[in-house]
Amino acid sequence: MSLDRASREELVRALAEAVIQHADELTGLDQAIGDGDHGLNMKRGFEAVLATLPGLADKALPEMLKSIGMTLVMKVGGASGPLVGTFFMELGKALPEQPTRAEFVAAADMAINAVKARGRSEAGQKTLLDVLVPVQAVLAAGGDARAIAMEAAQAADRTTPMLAIRGRASFLGERSIGHMDPGSRSVSLLIGAAAKVLEF
Ligand code: ADP
Ligand code: MG
Ligand code: MG
Repeated sequence: MSLDRASREELVRALAEAVIQHADELTGLDQAIGDGDHGLNMKRGFEAVLATLPGLADKALPEMLKSIGMTLVMKVGGASGPLVGTFFMELGKALPEQPTRAEFVAAADMAINAVKARGRSEAGQKTLLDVLVPVQAVLAAGGDARAIAMEAAQAADRTTPMLAIRGRASFLGERSIGHMDPGSRSVSLLIGAAAKVLEF
């Protein structure tokens, strides 16, 4: 998987647009089972990432991902910034400059483990891990971009009937059931955008 400068810039713009264009929807989801700031949090973070272009796309892929992660950790208040930021940072740390698919799978594994450690969480608790973990399984099994994007969307949908055990939504107990997890929706949007630009 090698990305030239133009593709790296396209990737950053696609990721940012995906969350910025859905900020109201994400906020609506967080109003139902959180504190209603998720859309704004993600929008603020990715606007800050966009502000680091064009220099950001001059960096090699690993450095670019680390830089995106650091910006998200710094600019996003709330749980999602450190968690999504950790994913990007650790993915960047673990990737070689021109990763093979197997190297990408291994790096994504490390990044997901770092998110689990940071959130003290696991899949099954109605968090963004409920998208990251099943998508990683499809990626590891050789799924193409279409299969990856489809799994991301379906995995976010599958958080709707789940009981929240981590994050603010867990304060609601049973009342968290019946609403999609906002962070899962964000991550599915990011993965859908990445799958359109990257070749898997
Ligand atoms: P906050 O809850 O601090 O207001 P956001 O609304 O931006 O932050 O993000 C909420 C999302 O963060 C949740 O929908 C969930 O997906 C994710 N999240 C929260 N806590 C955790 C955790 N411990 N582990 C993994 N993901 C989490
Ligand atoms: Mg919130
Ligand atoms: Mg908040």
